[in-house]
Amino acid sequence: MIQRNVNLSRLKAGYLFPEIARRRREFAASHPEDPAKSETRIISLGVGNTTEPILPVIDAALVDGARRLAVTETYTGYTDEGFLELREGISRVFYKNAFSASEVFISDGAKCDIGRLQLLFGAETNVAVQDPSYPVYVDGSVLSGAAGEWSGEGYAGITYLPCTADNSYFPDLSRLGKNSLLYFCSPNNPTGAAATRSQLEELVASALEKRCLVVFDAAYAEYIRDPALPKTIFEIDRARECAIEVNSFSKPAGFTGVRLGWTVVPKELKYSGGESVNADWNRVMGTIFNGASNIAQAGGIAALTKEGLGEIRELCDFYLGNAKRIRKVLENLRIACVGGDNSPYIWARFPGKDSWDVFAEILEKCRVVTTPGSGFGPSGQSFIRFSAFGHRGDVEEACRRLAANLRP
Ligand SMILES: *Cc1c(COP(=O)(O)O)cnc(C)c1O
Repeated sequence: MIQRNVNLSRLKAGYLFPEIARRRREFAASHPEDPAKSETRIISLGVGNTTEPILPVIDAALVDGARRLAVTETYTGYTDEGFLELREGISRVFYKNAFSASEVFISDGAKCDIGRLQLLFGAETNVAVQDPSYPVYVDGSVLSGAAGEWSGEGYAGITYLPCTADNSYFPDLSRLGKNSLLYFCSPNNPTGAAATRSQLEELVASALEKRCLVVFDAAYAEYIRDPALPKTIFEIDRARECAIEVNSFSKPAGFTGVRLGWTVVPKELKYSGGESVNADWNRVMGTIFNGASNIAQAGGIAALTKEGLGEIRELCDFYLGNAKRIRKVLENLRIACVGGDNSPYIWARFPGKDSWDVFAEILEKCRVVTTPGSGFGPSGQSFIRFSAFGHRGDVEEACRRLAANLRP
């Protein structure tokens, strides 16, 4: 028979969310819910998945986008790198027109682009990640062969840059190797920390000095409320010489099930041999991707109008309202935490405890599902991620239970 790709056998993660689901099922089996007692219901603050409906203006555009496909005059087929109106709109709204349409590539989502981006660099690439980090940076590197062998705590071919309370969740970039591919996410999943302007200046300066390429994941940029915080890496001088930005409508517009994202690859970006990264990305996308859904793109175009941007703001504010409630409860319990003010995640610290033990304790005492920080990398040990994605009533009920039953 055909041989399995050895890289598949090297995957370690992908284990986190199935394991959480398994433990939840096990707990539910031994602690049945009583429909008459709402306090017995299990509530999840565990997943990074949106829960609230798409708002009216964007929704109407999605419906209209579907209708247009049923009419000869408005029918459209493949749109390759995306509708020009959407590409130009993204450049205008998020990047002050700093990019031409040929530098903005429309896709079916940021995670999908992050997976495909590895094809630009190959198996010999030195990869660096923030630790903890969103799993696809590491797992995508495993699949491409760049991560190498698993060695107990991590992969031999990956440099883990710890982001801890001691460094305010911004990594020590002196540990970044030359010619690396660095994945950087801000506002961060899972820590919820948002990098400051001076931190991103330091990031760009290090990348230029060490000839690294930064894949900047800005999926939560629309959650930033502090006007001093940059919403894109391209607010930093010379970032276009060293960075690609991936972004998505998933979290700001509730498009997790619609699927629409984009990647900005500046024309200035070059490999060590001087070749254009933009030209190669165009080639990769044209080869293995046939464009995002035209219906989703119609929704994206509407999301960029004044009314659409208002709906994005409203939706993010709603989740930020949840985050504020969760954070307040944790602070009242004197549990140290970050995030939740410019991101939908709160990263809570339980010194000396194992993440899975705290997960189990919260599930037992509060019937609330969370995410163990250790699942995001070695430096996530002793942390718990609380997600603000949830219906308001559920979040408020979860907060009441945490306040009543959780003792630090
Ligand atoms: C949710 C999320 C994404 C979005 O992925 P899509 O494929 O666009 O839905 C990207 N990056 C991070 C860090 C995320 O948490």
